[in-house]
Amino acid sequence: MTTSREIRLASRPVGMPVAENFQIAACELAEPGPGEVLVHNKFMSVDPYMRGRMVDRASYVPPFAIGEVLQGGAIGVVAHSNAEGLKKGDIVSSMFGWREAFVAPAAALEKLDVPARVPMESFLGVLGMPGLTAWAGLMQIGKPKPGDVVFVSGAAGAVGSIVVQVAKLKGCTVVATAGSDEKCEWLKSVGVDHAINYRTCGDLLAAVQAAAPKGIDIYFDNVGGEHLEVAIEVARPFARLIECGMISAYNDTDPAPGPRNMIQIVGKSLTIRGFIVMEFAGLRGDFIAEVGGWIRSGKLKWQETVLEGIEQAPAAFIGLFEGKNTGKMLVKL
Ligand code: NDP
Repeated sequence: MTTSREIRLASRPVGMPVAENFQIAACELAEPGPGEVLVHNKFMSVDPYMRGRMVDRASYVPPFAIGEVLQGGAIGVVAHSNAEGLKKGDIVSSMFGWREAFVAPAAALEKLDVPARVPMESFLGVLGMPGLTAWAGLMQIGKPKPGDVVFVSGAAGAVGSIVVQVAKLKGCTVVATAGSDEKCEWLKSVGVDHAINYRTCGDLLAAVQAAAPKGIDIYFDNVGGEHLEVAIEVARPFARLIECGMISAYNDTDPAPGPRNMIQIVGKSLTIRGFIVMEFAGLRGDFIAEVGGWIRSGKLKWQETVLEGIEQAPAAFIGLFEGKNTGKMLVKL
């Protein structure tokens, strides 16, 4: 018998999530049956989209149920295998969520071929879902051209920090916002042309206008709210606005007001296009080839913020809404 601890949703958050919305529990795992494996998780992902699944409403993924384990990405090591194709020691990616260990059919797991110089947890960040979101969203929707001015919000996070670097590698000028001076310094160190601390800059519109006096061609939105209004204001004709996320609204108890300047979408012929990363799952091979190449050649950098122990998962998740992370927020087990 293996004992595993797991984090369950105790209650649905109203506004900002709090520790009491989560519950840690221990359970005994059954022995793996035929075709099944026992996996010990090493890293778990906490992601902003999980906040939407805590609300009981229809969406592109079903809501979490009260009392059930929070599902999300994790990387683990096979501890015992009764399945062909997976052996003890193999590294696997799963969506079984916030648990120390689990038993599952091998068919529900993805075996990872982790290159020698890349840590396994990068498959939850730069080489995983956030990396694909950044690369595919920017390239497929934004279609950046050399010389374009790209504005990125939430730029020091898991997705944003890859977007800014891909945009630089594609020959663009990058204006980015983040919530601390330290984050802005890091963004400059990876090539961002203008990094703005949106918490201390005062007038965000004036700060972005000063950084991009001729306007922007692409906006990659992770934040929504005031940032989106600013992006519409500074957009050049035919600019592309990529709606990846709107984290500033995820804890709102009433719908946030829309941008007041939407009429400019007409006059400037703007394209505003949302997406969910699954749309681009078929491009994963191309993504690994291009981004993996940049990692190998040292052209693309990434950071992780790692909290240790499964009991830290709620704090890590809540920390996403407080800007506690630079790069990908992870929990190490
Ligand atoms: P991040 O690593 O960017 O973490 C969240 C960051 O958001 C925080 O560090 C914080 O940074 C910033 N933030 C939090 N609250 C606010 C606020 N009120 N206003 C402005 N910034 C805020 O998360 P991810 O990279 O995983 O996700 C980034 C965005 O992309 C999210 O909106 C997410 O939902 C979305 N997403 C969308 C996907 C899709 O398929 N469309 C897939 C994956 C992610 P700071 O210190 O700068 O405030």
